[in-house]
Amino acid sequence: MSCTPLEEIPKVYEGLKAAFRSGKTKSVAFRKAQLSQLLYLLDDNVGRFQQALHADLGRPFKEAQLLEINGTLLQLQGAHDNVEAWASPQRAPFSLLWYPMSPITRKEPKGVVLIIGPFNYPVYLILCPLAAAIAAGNTVLLKPSELSMATATLLTELIPQYLDPDVVRVVNGAIPETTKILELPFDHILYTGNGRVGRVVSTAAAQHLTPVTLELGGKCPCVIDPKCDLKTAAKRIMWGKLANGGQICLCPDYVIVPAHFQDAVVEALVAAYKELHPVDPRESGEVTRMVNKRHAERIKKLVDTTRGTIVIGGEVDTETLYAAPTIVRDVGPKDSLMSEELFGPVLPIVPVSDVDEAIAFIGERDHPLCLYIFSNDAAFKTKVIDNTLSGTVAINDTLLQIGAPTPFGGVGASGHGGYQSGKYAFETFTHMRPVTDSPNWLDSALMGARYTPYDESSFRQ
Ligand code: NAD
Repeated sequence: MSCTPLEEIPKVYEGLKAAFRSGKTKSVAFRKAQLSQLLYLLDDNVGRFQQALHADLGRPFKEAQLLEINGTLLQLQGAHDNVEAWASPQRAPFSLLWYPMSPITRKEPKGVVLIIGPFNYPVYLILCPLAAAIAAGNTVLLKPSELSMATATLLTELIPQYLDPDVVRVVNGAIPETTKILELPFDHILYTGNGRVGRVVSTAAAQHLTPVTLELGGKCPCVIDPKCDLKTAAKRIMWGKLANGGQICLCPDYVIVPAHFQDAVVEALVAAYKELHPVDPRESGEVTRMVNKRHAERIKKLVDTTRGTIVIGGEVDTETLYAAPTIVRDVGPKDSLMSEELFGPVLPIVPVSDVDEAIAFIGERDHPLCLYIFSNDAAFKTKVIDNTLSGTVAINDTLLQIGAPTPFGGVGASGHGGYQSGKYAFETFTHMRPVTDSPNWLDSALMGARYTPYDESSFRQ
């Protein structure tokens, strides 16, 4: 992948601004045609995207299809099918007072939007927000992650072939290019990635008062109640932990469990792992590898310095980038494995005395993107939800909540904006612009009272 020359970047932006000002993206028919092209872009090239994801992350082809490409196609189809409904003006709820002014809310595109994507879901997290931004009538500058180069290269090749090159442009590069991009006065920025860079993006955006959506990560806890279906819980946790090699923002990061129940949980997790991976994943290739040497070395250091007991796994090969699925028990609050978001196939188990200690443990840390609860007890679920805060909550499952027709996003250190998915994504890139239209006769009715000199008799004493 070649980086976009720095001097080109302002020109790309000016081109997108001119295209927006030309008004071509205002037509809903134009947006729908672009969305249809976006669907073709992905559908025609599924095999090439699978290959790119394999080259970038060693991702198994089936997992790429199931967990990334299919979900992206669904979102693109949804934007295509709903764009007219989403974009149509919304009449205000009936009110006798306001009815004469015909209040409506127009859905206006914001202008030129910037989408910065991460390496871990480099198709979904670029194409889904792109679809929403197009549906909302914006022009778009895309900055894919330089760590998933094969996918970025494929997107750079295909986007101008399928989409209007005046309306969507790709800029490639790393920190120098992104820094240059962030100097420009975008009308909205959507950043998905880590919190350190999230702060850089927010600071740059503040110079232009540009609104920002931040999709960040964090440590997502799984709170386990002994009154749960442990076999199913363990299978869903291990599946969620090992999908994409643990490199998903909503992967369960750690398990928190009453100390007396730890042995049973460990046993169930090991059994679930053996069921999911009857063949060593190093041989089967069914666990995605770490994205690069830096991340492999990072995870190796965290595992090598844990004071917990490694139950399975523990090996990280920084040459082949393979990190073995790892379960670590008796992990304390100050352990290396609790020091940062793991973003790898390593599952620490933290024993606590009871649910109150589990709640306090979660509350002392940054608000996680997701909170997972495994329980069949309604009072337990309510207690944990009522006494914690997280971007989302999923009960008795992992990962699937991202596809639900609800807003998805973080809170506090895990981000803000809740842009995913469907209509919520569309609204992220839309300015809700209310319009009222007052008839002259209004002044002879109630609204005449606004004018001076005020008629004292019409005010309450
Ligand atoms: P990354 O290293 O690919 O970086 C993300 C983007 O930031 C890239 O496009 C990169 O070029 C850019 N970038 C990096 N350094 C920069 C700098 N100094 N200035 C400006 N731009 C810079 O990915 P990452 O950040 O390691 O992604 C993993 C993180 O993303 C995890 O924390 C994960 O939880 C989070 N994530 C969140 C979501 C979500 O929906 N909330 C989804 C996926 C990933």
